[in-house]
Amino acid sequence: QEVCAIIGASHAGVNCAFALRKEGWKGKIIMYDGDPELPYHRPPLSKAYLSAGDIMGLTPLKSEAAYLKEDIVLRLGTRINAIHPKRKEIILENGDSQAYHKLVIATGARPIIPRIPGIETATHLYPLRTAAHVNCIQEAIKSGAGKEVVIIGGGYIGLETAASLKKLGANVKVLEREERILARVTAPVMSDFFHQLHTENDVEVLTGKNVVSIESNGNQNTVTCEDGSHYIADLIIVGVGIKVNVEMAEKAGIKIKNGILVDNSARTNDKDIYAIGDCTYHFNTYYDRFVRLESVQNAVDQAKIAAAAICGKEAGYNAIPWFWSDQFDVKLQMVGLSEGYDEVIIRKENTDNCFSLWYFIGDDLLSVDAVNNAKAYVWGTKFLKSRVPIDKEKLKDSTVDLKAIPK
Ligand code: FAD
Repeated sequence: QEVCAIIGASHAGVNCAFALRKEGWKGKIIMYDGDPELPYHRPPLSKAYLSAGDIMGLTPLKSEAAYLKEDIVLRLGTRINAIHPKRKEIILENGDSQAYHKLVIATGARPIIPRIPGIETATHLYPLRTAAHVNCIQEAIKSGAGKEVVIIGGGYIGLETAASLKKLGANVKVLEREERILARVTAPVMSDFFHQLHTENDVEVLTGKNVVSIESNGNQNTVTCEDGSHYIADLIIVGVGIKVNVEMAEKAGIKIKNGILVDNSARTNDKDIYAIGDCTYHFNTYYDRFVRLESVQNAVDQAKIAAAAICGKEAGYNAIPWFWSDQFDVKLQMVGLSEGYDEVIIRKENTDNCFSLWYFIGDDLLSVDAVNNAKAYVWGTKFLKSRVPIDKEKLKDSTVDLKAIPK
């Protein structure tokens, strides 16, 4: 019986395993993850799961019964230490080996812990990527910490965490190194909107704050910034980005370029090894360039493409990226990639806190950010897919229905 081994059982790996069965893979499927939990949805970690304040049930990606039904073998709490492409086997952390015919690398990413003096000895300092991290945060809060929270990094994870911990009654400060939050991913007007949203909800958002040292006295930390300012924190959350888990693949001779380099079928430079999800650097046909994405959409779509290709059906990855974020009562939905834009059109609807940003390069629509505005997200997606030219004047006028804005 042929074996397809999958390293990493999260959004990418799990979806790939099930898609393999759907595509007709008759052989064995064996999937490994270093973490012990039944694979779960990651986005709620910084949202509902954290703000629940107590360890509530994680939302599993699939039930235990579903793995049994599809005959997918899950080896949880089992890290893979090495890949030997020539021998076509992988080495488990206990030294055992597993032979494969096809291998899927879905190792995702890990949080970056910046080299700040004192960070290693800080009291109650955690990143937020896994259920274990959230459990640590919740345990710290139970032990009396979490009254004074400092969040390092004003990206989506930092801001969602700020909103969730605020709901639990903490005093929360977000320290962002750049001059605005969400600087890497959105236009200044969106940064301003979220800055104000957090301020209105009593979260202190401080920009231009480069943390240079952390000093702990055992119970509390003093966080010091480059400009000399100090902040007291009994809980620190670090949300400054991720590092892709590619070292093992690299050692095995798999090509790396800002992630595991894959073709349009999620195949690496080894024809029997595929890579999917956050750990990949892949070509996006819509934008005509290579990208590395950190999103559920990409993990799921690449998983399906890889499964099809493994079963001999080259489908070709051709997706428009989408992403969402929930903070307080605001739902942000994004479709497309705004990088390289030269114009942003703001369309305000008549309801409070309901608007959308439309990013263009010349006359071409690149992406849409929709705030509490599912309609703009849905129409934006349609227009991006069809590449229909947009009448910008109509777009600006919220009395013109969105479906009437194509030229
Ligand atoms: P990962 O989820 O990183 O999974 C990789 C898995 O591989 C891990 O379980 C890891 O333990 C395992 N692994 C790694 N190396 C090994 C090894 N050597 N042996 C065995 N196992 C290994 N995306 C959105 O689209 N919308 C959101 O709102 C959103 N919110 C998020 C909130 C948080 C707090 C976080 C952390 C992420 C969020 N994301 C969101 C991003 C999304 O969760 C990721 O894009 C997605 O999890 C990527 O899936 P993946 O399977 O590629 O990688």
